[in-house]
Amino acid sequence: MSFAVPPLSPVSIEISDSTDRFPVARAFCIGRNYAEHSIEMGGNPDREEPFFFMKPATAIIPGGNLPYPTATSELHHEVELVVALHKGGRDIAVTDAASHVFGYATGLDMTRRDLQAAAKKAGRPWDMAKGFDASGPVGALVPAAVSGHVNDAAIDLTINGESRQKGNVNQMIWKTEEAIAYLSGLVELMAGDIIFTGTPRRCRSG
Ligand code: MN
Repeated sequence: MSFAVPPLSPVSIEISDSTDRFPVARAFCIGRNYAEHSIEMGGNPDREEPFFFMKPATAIIPGGNLPYPTATSELHHEVELVVALHKGGRDIAVTDAASHVFGYATGLDMTRRDLQAAAKKAGRPWDMAKGFDASGPVGALVPAAVSGHVNDAAIDLTINGESRQKGNVNQMIWKTEEAIAYLSGLVELMAGDIIFTGTPRRCRSG
């Protein structure tokens, strides 16, 4: 078979202490998964049904320098636990979900907040606010075989030594296993999928 244009090489994420890399199929993101962030965004802190949006796999980049995107004057960081799946499926049970997890990484759901606010106001999709080029920096994945399943761990973001976001993944409204199970009822998940699991609150001083 020959292609009319060169096919893309798979986007991949570094795996800690390994020469293998994790190939990214799709990047799903869960919205408003920490009560305090939900309140910041004008939402409901209660356990509503989760909602998801996506970034293209090509938006996933390694940690390091991030190009400032076009078309925004309000670029926000959302630090998130990223979970990578090594096994797919549909209608995955919550109790079975952890067995689908390859590992965990820290990622940033970079957001053009001004474009998102305009999209929300107009009832339009968020894609250009969330899925722009280089909008998903992800650090090295730590295999679950090494880290165990990450259900209780600090998640912080600092800029030049100043704390900007602070939380613990145990504050997630929909736990990782629940998010996997729910999402697998919406789409058939596949090996290589990653899920950004939501962001904790911003620090208010400074
Ligand atoms: Mn997010």
